[in-house]
Amino acid sequence: MDLKGKFRYIFFDADDTLWENEQYFRAAEAKFIELLADYTTPEGVQDMLWRKQEDNIPLFGYGSKTYMIGMTDAALELCGGTLPEHIYYGIKKIITDLAFHELEIIEGVKETLEALQGRYELIVATKGDLPEQMGKFRSSGLSHYFHHCEVMENKDEKNWLEVAAKHNLRPEEILMIGNSVKSDIAPVVSLGGWAIHTPHEVVWVHEMMDMPQNDRIIEVKNIREILSYLL
Ligand SMILES: [Mg+2]
Repeated sequence: MDLKGKFRYIFFDADDTLWENEQYFRAAEAKFIELLADYTTPEGVQDMLWRKQEDNIPLFGYGSKTYMIGMTDAALELCGGTLPEHIYYGIKKIITDLAFHELEIIEGVKETLEALQGRYELIVATKGDLPEQMGKFRSSGLSHYFHHCEVMENKDEKNWLEVAAKHNLRPEEILMIGNSVKSDIAPVVSLGGWAIHTPHEVVWVHEMMDMPQNDRIIEVKNIREILSYLL
């Protein structure tokens, strides 16, 4: 498939596409399980955390602050309705470490952006907490490759239509590159746009979805491979 010159803008997901993310959430989850080890089994903690996360995402959106609320809610229930001080501060420490770790840029990202810069207008399209995502973008060392960073409330079809309208694009003029089938691939192609899937070995349960059948989806093994379609 030849996509050369077909697009003015290229949208890139950030978490687990440009830099590592999910592995830090997994590490935080493991610490939380350890913190609650006296109260129930690892599976019990994991299951409760998952349920409370799903309750809180529609209210508070994505990001580590919502994760803190989910952990606090889960701990409160697992501790029988009273939250011991050491558990509360344990959670806060887990979340602080999660929110302020140094970013690890995924291999091949810099060279790929370098090669595309100047030929296309590059835009980051990430979902989550505004200050948190902008903070990561600014400290990533990648911001000079991009025109700007869009922090989306979610990445469903409605949000993607808003992004298209904002950039004066018809949906079929969108090319999105990312690791999440549910957020980066499925809604974009369903609107008539194009997507390149750059897989990541760690996928959040919340983002799991089967790859749709669609001719406008390209699957690559790593981000460098996108250049063969775009240059
Ligand atoms: Mg992602």
